[in-house]
Amino acid sequence: MDELSHFIGGKRVKGGSGRFADVFNPATGEVQAKVPLASKAELDAAVAAAAEAQVAWGATNPQKRARVMMEFVRLINRDMEKLAEALSREHGKTIPDAKGDVQRGLEVVEFCIGAPHLLKGEYTDGAGPGIDMYSMRQPLGVVAGITPFNFPAMIPMWKMAPALSCGNAFILKPSERDPSVPLMLAELLKEAGLPDGVLQVINGDKEAVDAILDNETIQAIGFVGSTPIAQYIYSRGCAAGKRVQCFGGAKNHMIIMPDADMDQAADALIGAGYGAAGERCMAISVAVPVGDETADALIEKLVPRIEKLKVAPYTAGNDVDYGPVVTAAAKANIEKLVQSGIDQGAKLVVDGRGFKLQGYEDGFFVGPHLFDHVTTDMDIYRKEIFGPVLSQVRAKTYEEALGYAMDHEYGNGTAIFTRDGDAARDFASRINIGMVGINVPIPVPLAYHTFGGWKKSGFGDLNQHGPDAFRFYTRTKTVTARWPSGLKEGGEFHFKAMD
Ligand code: NAD
Repeated sequence: MDELSHFIGGKRVKGGSGRFADVFNPATGEVQAKVPLASKAELDAAVAAAAEAQVAWGATNPQKRARVMMEFVRLINRDMEKLAEALSREHGKTIPDAKGDVQRGLEVVEFCIGAPHLLKGEYTDGAGPGIDMYSMRQPLGVVAGITPFNFPAMIPMWKMAPALSCGNAFILKPSERDPSVPLMLAELLKEAGLPDGVLQVINGDKEAVDAILDNETIQAIGFVGSTPIAQYIYSRGCAAGKRVQCFGGAKNHMIIMPDADMDQAADALIGAGYGAAGERCMAISVAVPVGDETADALIEKLVPRIEKLKVAPYTAGNDVDYGPVVTAAAKANIEKLVQSGIDQGAKLVVDGRGFKLQGYEDGFFVGPHLFDHVTTDMDIYRKEIFGPVLSQVRAKTYEEALGYAMDHEYGNGTAIFTRDGDAARDFASRINIGMVGINVPIPVPLAYHTFGGWKKSGFGDLNQHGPDAFRFYTRTKTVTARWPSGLKEGGEFHFKAMD
């Protein structure tokens, strides 16, 4: 069995704590590798080495740093197939989806090639008599990223590319469930010219995370994961005086107006509800049709589409719709919530319970589920399920539908499907959610915009990637400079005595 490692000082380093976690192949249920779980001492040593390496990296001119990102882009494209395969093997998502995971991270690296422009400061010429004033954006020093299992390529890249481009050293603590791709990315960054020690990948669990929170050298933490852990890291990190941004869980609503194109809405719900087995923070997990006729029409369109879904391992071809969920515990949690939906009175229209795939009986596969007549007091409505389970909540009016999305504690993404521009504009303007789709079911902003949810989906005042990332990973220094006049008064052509 493979024993994975950390990546410290430009090379793979074995774990020294004696503690390991199992890394599964979710399609077969087998343990395929062991990942070391770092101790506090290992984390602290890696941070100290990163602080030393950061001094020269921070002083390297921004264009040279950007050239490392340029080469990183080329190497990721070169290794796309290899990265996607490693990702699917540990996560379970299909190969096209794994390539999307890499691609959406890569786009942020591409954006970081423009770092020299984003790092330019501000200048006031003649702020007073003989006085100029200018501000610089300087790196913070050593910063850390703690990332979730569901995008093991994209989210580490969203964190490390801007942080490194700004001249910081970066400590990445990826998810212990699928750590191989982050290690491969670290190797590619070294090959691209990143000096040793500037990026350290430390695998681990709560012990490593707590060590990050307690380490005084680490200036900032970017976290993505579930809301309880986001809140924990945000409050402890802020109390320790660090700059912290934490992105949490989601329950994304899609409102379907009576005038929507029902085929388009149903297709969108299938992809956004069941793609990646529902393990996306931007998945649609709640459909809110307006009016009973719309709701009935939607169910009629959804059921045959759901019944056609191909649920299989990534190795079964590019027509697989989704694969297994990540662990047996994740599967058990989904099954528990499905049972609660039945017990609490929701109507299970498509029943995915007991799904088994021949030859993969021990894999963590979950069949697709569709609930109708879900109400806001049910657990399947209040909680993030993170599985292939779509709930339909019926609304009588647009205002009622809007209210459901507004009142939910999560505020990551949402969408409206309609042909009415007035309704769409009203929705986009009034909704209290960070990312909004209009006839677009998964409105993930591109790299040069920013990504972030509201309410219990995001903590901190800046978003991920785009210009906000450059604000998060730098601090501003403002210089007021005065040069007294007199030095330039008239030329002197004779040899002056020193008196
Ligand atoms: P998770 O919260 O279990 O883990 C995230 C990270 O926190 C991992 O690196 C993990 O090792 C660490 N961690 C776990 N338990 C911890 C503890 N008790 N103390 C300290 N650290 C701990 O999340 P996950 O299951 O890996 O990812 C799925 C979650 O992430 C979902 O809730 C999903 O909505 C969310 N997510 C949010 C976004 C977003 O941008 N808002 C994006 C992707 C995923």
